[in-house]
Amino acid sequence: MKITVLGSGTSTGVPEYKCDCDTCEDARTFGSRNYRTRPSIHIEKDEKHLQFDLGPNFIDQIDRNKIEWIDAVVFTHCHADHISGTNDIVMPCRKQKMDMPIYGPEETMLILQRNFDYMFSKDTFQGGGVGHLIPNVVEAKFELHGFEITPIPVEHGSVNTYGYRIGNFGYLPDVKRLPDSSKELLHGIEVLIIDALSFNPRHPTHLSVGESIEISEDLKPKETYFTHIMHRLDHRYFREQCEEQDIELPENVYLAYDGQVIEIE
Ligand SMILES: [Zn+2]
Ligand SMILES: [Zn+2]
Ligand SMILES: [Zn+2]
Repeated sequence: MKITVLGSGTSTGVPEYKCDCDTCEDARTFGSRNYRTRPSIHIEKDEKHLQFDLGPNFIDQIDRNKIEWIDAVVFTHCHADHISGTNDIVMPCRKQKMDMPIYGPEETMLILQRNFDYMFSKDTFQGGGVGHLIPNVVEAKFELHGFEITPIPVEHGSVNTYGYRIGNFGYLPDVKRLPDSSKELLHGIEVLIIDALSFNPRHPTHLSVGESIEISEDLKPKETYFTHIMHRLDHRYFREQCEEQDIELPENVYLAYDGQVIEIE
């Protein structure tokens, strides 16, 4: 299975608008790993392609990463940084000559239907530029194009939010707390991509670096990558930043970056 990190940034993206901190200034230079678009991944295996979330950078992300097919979209939750690019699924639908099946929590399906109602019906004449969505609510393990997918319920503010286990890979971009019953569902994973917004453990809806290292040490994947990362974390100095915070960064824990490809058996 090939995992492409399409976006590794928090909801504002990095650089932050009008921020002149050292990380944001670096993010504005071409090729910087500190340049981060909104969180999303794409996975492929045996020529089947799943897209996770459709944030505001979606269409540029798939173009830049040469993603040439999408069989289905899986949503984690209904926050804008994960759904506001939904209309842009129109181009994959048009090129592939198909409607797009989408999967996710019931609440997310309802919010998508409210925000993008014209994409759920073929009755209304909308001109040529509409991608049609086929909603599927998921609650338990399901199979999709040869991928075994388990929704992992997580606590993330007031909206119903899933991470997902896909085979031996765990993707949990937006989490504040991982209930024990959800930890069990992740037993034996090899690669984990998990939320680590900043160093602040008091953030109400996102895990901190220290908290996510603890979860990683608990789940023991071979490799852990942090995503949904804000401008306070800098790729150039991350290890030093952890030392300053009295956090011991394990050898197998890294910051994810846009365009990163991770291969897993
Ligand atoms: Zn900044
Ligand atoms: Zn969120
Ligand atoms: Zn988010």
